[in-house]
Formats: sequence, structure tokens, C-alpha cells
Amino acid sequence: MSETVVEKHAFQAEVRQVLDIVINSLYTDKEIFLRELVSNAADSLEKLRHIQLTEKEIFDANLPLEISISTNENGGTITIEDQGIGLTRQELVENLGTIAHSGSKAFAAALAGAKEAGAEKAGALNLIGQFGVGFYSSFMVAKKVEVFTHSWKADGESLVWRSTGDGNYEIEALPGQRRGARIVLTLKDDCKSFANESTVKELLRRYSSFVPYPIKLNGEKVNTMQAIWLRSKAEVKAEEYEEFYKYQADAFDKPLYTLHFSADAPLALNALIFTPETNMERFGLGRTEPGVALYCKRVLIDAHPEGLLPEWLRFLRGVIDSADLPLNISRESMQDSALVKKLSSVVVGRYLKFLASEAEKNPENYAKFWKAFGIFLKEAIATEAGHSDKIGKLLRYESSLMKDGELTGLDAYVSRMKPEQKEIFYMYGGSRAAIEAGPYTETFKSAGIEVLYLYEPSDEFVMSHLREFDGKKLVSADTADLAMPDASVMAQGEALGAEKMEALCKWVKALLGERVREVIASKRLTESPAAATNADKMMTPSMRRLLRLMKEREGNAVDAMGLQPVNFELNAKSPLIAHLDELRGKDEATAKELTLQLFDNAMMAAGFLENPQEMVKRLNRLLEKVGK
Ligand code: ADP
Repeated sequence: MSETVVEKHAFQAEVRQVLDIVINSLYTDKEIFLRELVSNAADSLEKLRHIQLTEKEIFDANLPLEISISTNENGGTITIEDQGIGLTRQELVENLGTIAHSGSKAFAAALAGAKEAGAEKAGALNLIGQFGVGFYSSFMVAKKVEVFTHSWKADGESLVWRSTGDGNYEIEALPGQRRGARIVLTLKDDCKSFANESTVKELLRRYSSFVPYPIKLNGEKVNTMQAIWLRSKAEVKAEEYEEFYKYQADAFDKPLYTLHFSADAPLALNALIFTPETNMERFGLGRTEPGVALYCKRVLIDAHPEGLLPEWLRFLRGVIDSADLPLNISRESMQDSALVKKLSSVVVGRYLKFLASEAEKNPENYAKFWKAFGIFLKEAIATEAGHSDKIGKLLRYESSLMKDGELTGLDAYVSRMKPEQKEIFYMYGGSRAAIEAGPYTETFKSAGIEVLYLYEPSDEFVMSHLREFDGKKLVSADTADLAMPDASVMAQGEALGAEKMEALCKWVKALLGERVREVIASKRLTESPAAATNADKMMTPSMRRLLRLMKEREGNAVDAMGLQPVNFELNAKSPLIAHLDELRGKDEATAKELTLQLFDNAMMAAGFLENPQEMVKRLNRLLEKVGK
């Protein structure tokens, strides 16, 4: 009698957490477990196919590569079997008892968050496939899960892994297993329908038509294994694209855009490119793996080819199939291959053209794209990835002429430019309200000139990298020497004449010293008494903030003025400036305090104020004087 040894293990804490949520919170769409297990089986077969290319000794070498599913209605079980790589004892522990996937903790947290926020189940389900907890979805329907397995490795053991989804699992040696994994689910009482052949057949049709290995249900082949991307566009139905996307991208959302095309020159290719609805990087999972798979005549070369498409297109999913590629192209040689470069440039060009036309045809849908994936287009510009003209056209921003929440592109901005206007103006700020409350946009407003509103610090980098659009310079609205189109209008209604202004400016410069580069009579202000403007055209406000941050990190007492001086502009039309000029003749001490205060106010509006304590003290002194 041989002694059987049952090894007991506890699941890793994260697995328990995920199991708890999967078992207790996800009541809808339980059927997705089947898709997850079939997809694992297909992955395992795919891995074996790769191993076969290099390894000579493979256990059970002659087994066909296929997936067999069998249902047992009386017993209330469903079995999913593959002849893939199988699992060793150590792999059972590492792959099924722990979540190795780096995103798993984020998944548990995201799910718990979604649950708390009462978010839709769909959102949570969307996460399951993406976070690689697919196997555990079997516990949504099964009260017991058994994995019978033998690894492809000749020295592997015949094993069974068992769990009821509580905190523990066990592993036992069970001789006689074939290569691969046979997963037996003993269904919960309310999930017995998954032991019904026609139910399962329908599910397989829905979820697994595109699996590239034969799937047999109770002995009969049920999938077509068609290469949808090789078919003509006119023949493929929208549902088929959607199903293929879900299968290929392992996604639960729908494609936002589907681009299907073929080309003969400069090389033969068929491409099916999906833009998802969801930007998975938003979930804090780190970088998305590239997801446009590379095929050569229907044979998968690489499911996640690094270096095929540019990094900033890593959010795309789909397939590129080129008959011109050598079948044996390796991951290493891919990056240097001239063919691959050509392939990439054709696809990138087509995709950008496609986006431009979608943006024009259906701006609302494009706004969704921009919201989710605009960040990748900005990344493309900021990393000087090329195509900046084409990508420039795809940028979208709010502006002074748009309603709150409405977006404009640069093309549309240019079409609205004043005849005498030569530059495209933008202003960065935390919000529309913050930008409009500042002193920088008032001239533009009175001159009827549009200003783009940028809300992300990265947008400023994008603007400074893009530099110009359609031959027009992109200029920050807080730049000092703005050539305002209508200076004569601006000069009207001045409260202080030019001579007096000049004297006042000199006096203020003497007071502020090195803290400012120049004190000048403003050509731009209409309402605000004063403003700090960017004296160095090359230095955008975001660069200035960055420099300041660097100085702070180094522990220096930060003097933003020493960093890069600003210009201080005074508004000759402002009664306050006229009053200041008068005051300096009568009570110079108070005039000085008032000037310092005006300067601090301007610096605060520009986001550069360094020493608020000082300012508050001074403000209190001024208030005391007013109160007397
Ligand atoms: P994912 O497949 O997204 O990595 P799963 O939870 O579905 O996450 O599976 C965890 C791991 O278990 C897989 O990465 C794989 O290593 C292993 N695994 C799952 N199913 C099989 C199978 N049928 N054959 C071999 N290994 C498997």
C-alpha cells in the first residue's frame, strides 16, 4: 500500500482577499469563469508551442495541442482540460496559491474601493481579467476546484491541487496524470447550469470563438479558429469585432474604435487595431504591456511585442499580420529590423489619420478618447516621438472662447484667430476659474483673443515641446513682452501719464532691486494694478516651478527671484497705481509697504510667492493704517 501524502497550504493573504470578493461580491456574469479558464488553457498551449521549438525532452511529447471540455449534468461538474505546459509542485504553490502579478494588490484595493463606492459590478469584472486573477473566478461557480496536472518537464510529478475556496488548499501526488492541466469544477447548487452542454456551448461560442487551438466540447469541435483580421472588412460584423477584441485583449470593455485595414506597399500587411474604452494605467497598475500582437501568416510571433509600435501606443490592442516577415524573427532582432520599422510607420500613420477623421466625424466620441488616452498623445509629443504635426491636430483643450467643459483643437483655434494675430496663446492654471481670476488673460479678453486653458502641468511641457503649430508659435499668456495687437486702444484712459509712470517704475525698481529684472508700464493689463510676467521667454512657468522644487529639495532657502527674475508690470490705468504715485510724495514708508504688497500679490497670482508669513505681517500693518 502506498502512502499518500497530502500537503496543506494556506493561501497568501492577497489571494484570500481576492477570493472573498470574487465569491461574495460578484453575483453577475458568473459565466466569465469559463472564458478565464479557456484563456489560461490557450496560454498554456501557446507556451508549450514555444517550448517545443527549443526543448527536446518533453513529457507526453505526442499529445495534440487542444482544449477539451466535458460536462456532467448528473454529477454537477464541468472539466476543462489542456495539453499545455502543466504545473510542477512549486508552480502550483506559486501560481495558484499566491498572486505573483504585480498588479494584484492594486486589484484587491481597487475592488474594495469600487465596492465601497457602490460602483458598478461591470467595473469590477473589467478588472478581473486585467489583473490576472482569472483562475480564482472559478470559485464564483464552484464549491470545489481540483487541478490534476503533470508538467511538461520530464522529471515533473503527477499531482492534484484542491481547494474549496476557503483560506486553504492542498496538494497531493496522484500518479497517472497526462501532460497539462485538467481542471474539475464541482459546481455550487445554484450554478449547476454550467454542467449543461448547450449552455456551455453557447458560452464558448460567445467567448472563445477565436481561441487559436481546437476546443472540443464533449468530443465535438466548437470553435472556428478563424483569423478575423484576414477577412474582408465588409464581411465582418460589429459583434465579431467586439468578441475578438474581448478575447484577444482579455478585456471586458468594448473597443472605442476599431481600425481594420490592409496594405500591399511598402509591405503586405493586415492590421486590426482596437482602441479600448478604458485606460488601464489609470488604475495605478504601472505601464501597460504593448498589446498589438505580431503574426506572420496567422502564426503568432509575439503577443506583446516590445518595440513593434512606439511606446506611446502601448494602450492599443489587436493584431498586425505581415506575410513579409521572416517567421523566425526573434524578439531581440525585432527592434533593429528595417521591416518592423516600416510596419510600424505604416500602422502609426494610418492610426493617426484615422483618429483625425474620427475627431472630425464624431467629436463627442473623440472627446471620450481624449479623456482616456490624450495623455499618451501628450507623451508622444513630450518624448519627441515624431509625427508632432499630426498629433498637434489631435490635442484638445478648453479655451477662453469655449464654454466650461467644451474642448477645441488647434486647427479650430487657428481658424478663429484675429487677422492681425500671429501667435497661439495658452495659459496654465489649476482650473478655468483660477486662470480667469489671474491678471494674465484680461488683455486677451478685452482684445477678443482666444487663450487655450491648460490644466495639467504636463500640458505646458507639451506646448514647449511642440513649439509651433501650423507655422504659428505657441506662447504662454504670461510671457513678458507680448506683442499685443492693439496697443493704442490699450493706452486709452490712463490714470498716470507716461512721464510719471517712468519715474514711478524707476522708484519701484530701486525698491525691489534684484528681485525683478525690469519694472515697466504694462501694455497688457486692463483691470489689475500690477502683474509679474515671465521675463525669460525660454522659461515656462512649469519649468520655473520645477527649478524651484529642485532648489527646495536641495534645502536652500529659496528665493524665486534669484532663480529667474520676473518683470513687474504696473498698470497706468489703475487708480491704485495713481494713488501709489501720489503717496510716495507724502508718506514714502507706507508707499513702500504698499508696493511690496502689490508685488507679493502679483507673485501670488503667478504662483511664485515664497514667504507668506512676511506678507501677512505687512498686510496687517497696512490694514491698521487704513483702520485709523
Ligand atoms: P493569469 O492567467 O492572468 O496570469 P490566473 O489567475 O488565471 O492569472 O492564473 C495564474 C497562473 O496560474 C497563470 O499565470 C499560470 O502560470 C498558471 N495557470 C493557470 N491556468 C493554467 C493552466 N491551465 N496550465 C498551466 N498553468 C496555468
